[in-house]
Amino acid sequence: MATKEQILDYLQEVFDPEVPVLSVVDLGIVRKIEIDAEGTHITITPTYTGCPAMNVIEEDIRAKMKEKGISSFDIKTILSPAWTTDWISEEGKQKLKDYGIAPPEKSSPDKGLLSNHAKVLKCPRCGSMNTEMKSFFGSTACKSLYVCNDCKEPFDYFKCL
Ligand SMILES: [Zn+2]
Repeated sequence: MATKEQILDYLQEVFDPEVPVLSVVDLGIVRKIEIDAEGTHITITPTYTGCPAMNVIEEDIRAKMKEKGISSFDIKTILSPAWTTDWISEEGKQKLKDYGIAPPEKSSPDKGLLSNHAKVLKCPRCGSMNTEMKSFFGSTACKSLYVCNDCKEPFDYFKCL
């Protein structure tokens, strides 16, 4: 039977379909791994209620467990406490930045964004503060689209919810 550490390693290979550089572990989606006589129990919390990516993530976890020969497992989804961007690991935030997405600012919730009042964000490419929000919804409902007025590059911002 696989150990908790092995399960965690396998989950490191399951990536967020929207941000393919982040694993579900980096995102902080995986809340708990328990192993008992019945098998492996994985508890996950969705990043964003209603985020269509969550079904994909659960399917991907199932596929990964099967691929690794884990036959008895279940995936439980808990909604409370709600996921916050604070759960993204430091490594995950660095990966987001390298990928060209502005990492979420510390301490959510992001009330400014929720009220459609754009926040001043640093461009992940050139570091300029001269950026503006182009659209509340970016490439997916979980992100907002920003554009940098200096390097003219658009970038996604992971909304803090
Ligand atoms: Zn820029």
